[in-house]
Amino acid sequence: MKEEEESTEFYNGILVPGFVNSHCHIELSHLKGVFQKGTGMAGFIRQINMLRESVSKEERIAALEREMDTLYSAGVSAMADISNCEESFETKSKSKIYTRTFLEVFGSEPEIALEVMDGVVALTALAKEYGIDAAPTPHSCYTMSPGLLEASSAKALEAGWLSYHNQESWEEEELIMSGTGPLAQSYRSRSLSMPPVTGSSALLYFLERLANIGGVNEQNVLLVHNTFTNEQSVKAAKEVIKNLYWAICPLSNLFIHNALPPLSLLMREQATITLGTDSLSSNNLLSMVDEIKCIHKYFPTIELKDILEWSSYNGAKFLGKENTLGSFEKGKEPGVVLIDNIDWQKMQLTEQSKSVRLV
Ligand SMILES: [Zn+2]
Repeated sequence: MKEEEESTEFYNGILVPGFVNSHCHIELSHLKGVFQKGTGMAGFIRQINMLRESVSKEERIAALEREMDTLYSAGVSAMADISNCEESFETKSKSKIYTRTFLEVFGSEPEIALEVMDGVVALTALAKEYGIDAAPTPHSCYTMSPGLLEASSAKALEAGWLSYHNQESWEEEELIMSGTGPLAQSYRSRSLSMPPVTGSSALLYFLERLANIGGVNEQNVLLVHNTFTNEQSVKAAKEVIKNLYWAICPLSNLFIHNALPPLSLLMREQATITLGTDSLSSNNLLSMVDEIKCIHKYFPTIELKDILEWSSYNGAKFLGKENTLGSFEKGKEPGVVLIDNIDWQKMQLTEQSKSVRLV
């Protein structure tokens, strides 16, 4: 009996299954604390172009290794991670976190589409050598020629998974809707090609591209951000994509746009929501618990049990890992995470709450 008492530990908090971070760019970890906030999308792109290679490759790899370790200790068991190059492959191949890597492409000029696709096919082969799950994916409507958007979407669907930055900014909506606004101005001033002006929302434009390549069947599609989505877009996407997921990254949206996604709309439409941290170029920390706190702050009526489903089970389902991760069930090994400092009355996390992996 005594022995048992000595080996029993007591915690004050809740136990949750390991988190699934459904949107990250771990290779941007060296940009922690570097970017200016509230710049909007055009300003964000300017900073990324300027600062992406501001430190050496060794420092970039050291930073992403550090962040992967922190994510694991704080309870992340799986991650959908965006890569534009190979710098994170080795770390991911050794990490205890399961990652599916989305090899993201962009390129506004139609004539470079083939070259970009050749590059990402080679990168996919390299990822396979490291033994990580990886396939090409398109970046967004506003950084790609229609041809490249279609070609990379086709490759993503061939692999079974597509992750796409959707309606992240009002600038993007304006660009597609009317060919105006800061993104359009920036493209014109740099003499870059722009996507076609359609008079409707950016998501409808993307759905048209998907229809052009034969549509979506059983593949898992993740729309990321959705900050400026609307009812018409959500309904249209639901109609044509069966296995559809909506990733939200609230702290990143506040960082860049000082805006948040319409969660009540998404919930009303019964969207399958997942939670992501995005990268350290647009977030102070990669912390699922901080994202949950942010949702509590701005959407206090959303129940913790719903948010926890977004942060574990739904992400696992998107990754096709719901049989092993995402919930406490017999036969699964999702990881066990303690979240402390709970406000039991409101059944919410508090400012002091932290997460720590126990198993
Ligand atoms: Zn992103």
